[in-house]
Amino acid sequence: MTISKLNEELIECTLCDRLVDFREKIAIEKRKSFESWNYWGKPVPGYGNDKARLLILGLAPAAHGGNRTGRVFTGDKSAEFLMKCLHETGFANQNNSDSRNDGLILYDAFMTVALKCVPPGDKPLPEELRNCQPFLAKEFELLSEVSTILCLGKIAFDATLRYWRQFYDFKMKDYTFGHDVCYSLPNGLQLVGSYHPSPRNVNTKRLTYDMMIEFLIKLKGIL
Ligand code: SF4
Repeated sequence: MTISKLNEELIECTLCDRLVDFREKIAIEKRKSFESWNYWGKPVPGYGNDKARLLILGLAPAAHGGNRTGRVFTGDKSAEFLMKCLHETGFANQNNSDSRNDGLILYDAFMTVALKCVPPGDKPLPEELRNCQPFLAKEFELLSEVSTILCLGKIAFDATLRYWRQFYDFKMKDYTFGHDVCYSLPNGLQLVGSYHPSPRNVNTKRLTYDMMIEFLIKLKGIL
């Protein structure tokens, strides 16, 4: 199995009825400003360097971002913010992530999401996260050089803990999510938390550009 083989399986997945309906409805209705786009409307694969030491894990594709472009953190406001920060700190060759053929290269980083289809209101149901967990598990297995998992938001953080709890005896409550928190998991992996670069967090200044830059520079030291 390779990441590209995994992605071939992933994009055929129709396990969650509610999410299949939603992703396809968005792809048909479209946002006016993207009317000329042929929306992806399927599960969205991860992207980056499959020998990376840093795995960046978000919640799910955005309705008019990943669900439109077919690449995670591509074509929406969160991607805009994140990519500026990744570029500034040397994790990306460019400061934009607009489409699958925009030339983006990630250095020592791979980005993916815990849930591969866009959920209504960005709120997945527990069974949807459970359904999708095998895809994330396979990514964890295949990305064998990863030493640090950066979780953008609590859902990604908890999904990572749930996966590793299958193999090690620890309590979820001993790992509190927050921005700029770092834990060593029993296997030595570094679990790092950050607020999600969503427009809500950025517009309210819960997460600022300077905070994220400072955080990513620190993260480079951990790698
Ligand atoms: S969320 Fe995951 S399990 Fe559910 S349909 Fe999408 S790819 Fe399949």
